[in-house]
Amino acid sequence: MTQPRAILVTHRLSKEFQGFRAVNAVDLTVTEGTVHALVGPNGAGKTTLFNLLTGFLKPSGGGITFDGHDVTGLPPERVARLGVARSFQVTSLFPQSSVREHVELALQAGTGLSHRFWRSDKVMRRFSARAAELLDEVGLAHLAHSPAGILPYGRKRALELAVALASEPKMLLLDEPTAGMGLEDVDRTTQLIARIRAGRTVVMVEHNMSVVGSLADTVTVLQRGEVLTEGPYAEVKADPQVVEAYLGADIA
Ligand code: ADP
Ligand code: MG
Repeated sequence: MTQPRAILVTHRLSKEFQGFRAVNAVDLTVTEGTVHALVGPNGAGKTTLFNLLTGFLKPSGGGITFDGHDVTGLPPERVARLGVARSFQVTSLFPQSSVREHVELALQAGTGLSHRFWRSDKVMRRFSARAAELLDEVGLAHLAHSPAGILPYGRKRALELAVALASEPKMLLLDEPTAGMGLEDVDRTTQLIARIRAGRTVVMVEHNMSVVGSLADTVTVLQRGEVLTEGPYAEVKADPQVVEAYLGADIA
């Protein structure tokens, strides 16, 4: 057995917006191969933290180490190239393009190859084969030829996951992967994340506590930009501080 390794470490990570501390001195350690959930009330700073981790926002203070690299303040494309992918809270698909085209384009984007080279039959076949695998992984193989625009909401989110996975990320950040879903899609998405976590590290913001309970190895509770507590789900749920903070309210 190899020792579990920290793939992501933040040190006193902070973000201020006009003097308001949305993220305040957060120390976060994510262990490689785990599912790590971030929970906390609206406005706790979860999305801001994701934006800092992916380079979409520059920190006001503190640092971020990913996979042994200091990524503090790096632009999003550099962070992505080191192996961080994210799915967004809002969908960003091309309605007319087919499900398979989305994944093939994402695979193409990852190679940096010229369009002309990409069109060669050999390269095309390689992308098609990998696209088919990814669509199978997210349960969309039977919808490969459908325009993305006609997919139901839950399937759109699954396609976004396939697009995010196309870059072969070491760490996948999911911001509210089950938001706005009905029960059936929530179940399907939970099973999907359970499947795609194999060999990957997943950090997710999730409001649905049964989803958190069934997927997360570690839960970090954020409140007003700070870490309130952290631990395995069962412990965090029973933590008097958490109970007090969320008494009578939905935990997230
Ligand atoms: P969460 O995702 O936990 O609901 P956010 O990270 O979206 O919380 O927001 C944390 C706090 O930071 C909120 O009070 C929000 O209003 C504020 N905030 C987020 N982004 C900005 C911004 N670009 N400018 C000013 N304030 C912001
Ligand atoms: Mg948010």
